[in-house]
This record gives sequence, C-alpha cells and structure tokens, in this order.
Amino acid sequence: MENLFDRARSILTDAACVEVFTGAGMSADSGIATYRDAQTGIWENVDPVAMASISAWRSDPEPMFAWYLWRAQLVQQAEPNAGHRAIAAAHGVTVTTQNIDNLHERAGSEGVVHLHGSLFSFRCADCETPYDGDIALPATPVESITPPECPVCGGLVRPGVVWFGEVLPNDEWTEAERRMSTADALLIVGTSGVVYPAAGLPQLAHARGIPIVEVTPQPTDLSPLATVVVTATAAQALPRILAGRITSDSAPAGA
Ligand SMILES: [Zn+2]
Repeated sequence: MENLFDRARSILTDAACVEVFTGAGMSADSGIATYRDAQTGIWENVDPVAMASISAWRSDPEPMFAWYLWRAQLVQQAEPNAGHRAIAAAHGVTVTTQNIDNLHERAGSEGVVHLHGSLFSFRCADCETPYDGDIALPATPVESITPPECPVCGGLVRPGVVWFGEVLPNDEWTEAERRMSTADALLIVGTSGVVYPAAGLPQLAHARGIPIVEVTPQPTDLSPLATVVVTATAAQALPRILAGRITSDSAPAGA
C-alpha cells in the first residue's frame, strides 16, 4: 500500500498540470447527504427519480423546489474534507466535478467545472436566464416552496442541476474536454464511472497515454484505465499523494 501511495505521489508531483475529476465519493468524508440520507421526515418516501425530471417540474414545481432547497441546506451544513482542502492547496491543479455540492469552492478551489450543475445556482426554467436573487434555504424540511419568478420573462426559477434526460451544460463540457486533452496527469476521485457522458471524459485522457491515478475505496469501471489505483477515501489519500504540490504558503486560510 505504501508503495502505491508513493507511486501516485510521484506521478502527481512530476506532472506540470494535473486535472482532477471527482464524483460522489469525493464528498463522502464530509458526510454529504446523498439522496438516501436526505430522505428523512417528510421526504422519507420521495422518489429521487421523480424529483429529477423537467416533466415533473412542469407539473408540480413547488415540492421539487422545496426538496432541492432542503438538500442545499444539508450540503451547507457539511464541511469540505481534507481531500477537498488538499486539492485546493495544490499548485497547477484544475477540478472537474460531477458533484452538485459546493465543497470544492468552499475549500478554496477556483474555476471548478460543474458537469451536473450545482445546488447553489438557479436559472429560469423558460428562458434560461441565470437567477442571482437571494433564495433562503429552509432551516427545517417543508413540503412546498413557491419558486421565485424570472425578472426577465416571469417564468419560474428552477434549480441549476442537470436532470435525467437533459444535456450537460455546453460550456462546462467543452472546458472539461479541453482539460482532458491538455493535462499532463489525471487524478480520478470517488466516481463509479457509470454515469455517461461524464464517465467518458477519463477515456479522452487515457487515449493520450498520460498517467492516471485513481483514488477509490473499491475498484470501479474506471480502474482499468488507471496507472495506479489507491484504495482509500479522498480524505485519507489526497493530502498524502498531493503533498508534492502543496507548499506552506499555498494552504488556504483555515485549512
Ligand atoms: Zn425567464
């Protein structure tokens, strides 16, 4: 095991530019509420699939808006873990995430690409205009919250997450592809590799023959692509394998 940590650190220290690709496992050490964790109390019997489609939104937006604001509230109560902080403190590292939490940003990472949107961005469901008005998160679960109206067209403001059947945001996808096509090493953290099209991005890096390090508690569909698989959680592994890119003056305040 020690040997694998050393190999991973060597790869990640030698590369000029490292792209980090993260999924749900990245936030597991933060105790981030998954769908299942969020399904308590009045949301006990919620069907996550039914809460993640534009057709469900069109027919009944108020419960969905309440559900997403409740999840945002749960995320807001969690804290970035040592893995998020190590990534934020590392030099020459960019992040592409499938997570809809904001923990990379709260750890101090900049320019994070969000392939699946964010619980903390909102836009008009009709004209797509981003909404930057204040939206209060409920302190306790409530069954129904009326979304604000779009100041441009009067449509309803929706969560800025990607629902089933929706295409990924174009600018974010293009930037993720560019990074996979230019990075000198890829670090994959906590993604099962089964959700396409995002799962296809590591294939781009692999096709170029750059070294790939994967951090995951269990092997995944992406493990065969990896030069080194470090069997550990994000918080366990990342401070060690990114140590060569972290200097004392690069650690964000509070880390
Ligand atoms: Zn609008």
